[in-house]
Amino acid sequence: MLKLLFWLIIALVIGLFFAIRQANRLRAEQQDDSPQTRSLESVRCAQCGVFVPEDKAVRRDGQDFCSWEHADAWAQASADERHREQE
Ligand SMILES: [Zn+2]
Repeated sequence: MLKLLFWLIIALVIGLFFAIRQANRLRAEQQDDSPQTRSLESVRCAQCGVFVPEDKAVRRDGQDFCSWEHADAWAQASADERHREQE
C-alpha cells in the first residue's frame, strides 16, 4: 500500500513537472509571438506594399490600403487593366 502511495506521489511530481514546463513554454511562446501578433493585426497595402495597422487601413474591393489615395490609385489601375483586357 505504501509502495502504491510512493508511485502515486512520483507520478504526481512528474505530472506537475511537465505541467510547469508546459506553462513556461507557453509563456515563452507568447513572449516570442508578441511581435508576430502585432504583424497579424497589420495589413499590407495592395498598392505600395507597406504594412499598416488594420484599424488604420483602408479597405476597398476586398483589398487593404494604407490610404485612400492608394485605394483610388489601385482601383484606377485595376480598372485600366480590365479595360485593356476587354479591348
Ligand atoms: Zn500604400
